[in-house]
Amino acid sequence: MIISGEIKAETAEQLMRSRYSAYATNNAQYIFDTYALKSKQAQSVEEISAWAKSTTWLSLEVVPCEPLSYEQLSVSLLTTDPSLTKSLPTVRFTATYLVDNTLWKMSETSKFVKELDEWRYLDGDITEHNKVREIKRNDLCPCGSRKKFKKCCAK
Ligand SMILES: [Zn+2]
Repeated sequence: MIISGEIKAETAEQLMRSRYSAYATNNAQYIFDTYALKSKQAQSVEEISAWAKSTTWLSLEVVPCEPLSYEQLSVSLLTTDPSLTKSLPTVRFTATYLVDNTLWKMSETSKFVKELDEWRYLDGDITEHNKVREIKRNDLCPCGSRKKFKKCCAK
């Protein structure tokens, strides 16, 4: 398991998927640890944990996309070794999640860097973030279980 620290993510996409799993299981420490150094300053384990607890993650779809060249980036990448790669891997994803009885959908293009030979999440550009609909207690659960919401993912 990547998330347990036993094995390392070999690609940015693997790291991205492991971070999604960490959100789904409220492993805030892992999410914090896998931020790039530069991005960690704006984060706290407590805030990540509070967000992860308030959400129920339902689906993840990853869309392969082209790496960004450093020239295309506006961020200064002080923490990366440019000799490792000439471009910055990106992963585009769409995820759905619930907060209480509201279904949300978000799409993001995430950027990753390598620090000390390990993949880290730098930041992301959110391209879509919409409220999809409110789920009623007797509706089918949006997770796809075919059970009623109240007997499935409702809190
Ligand atoms: Zn469900």
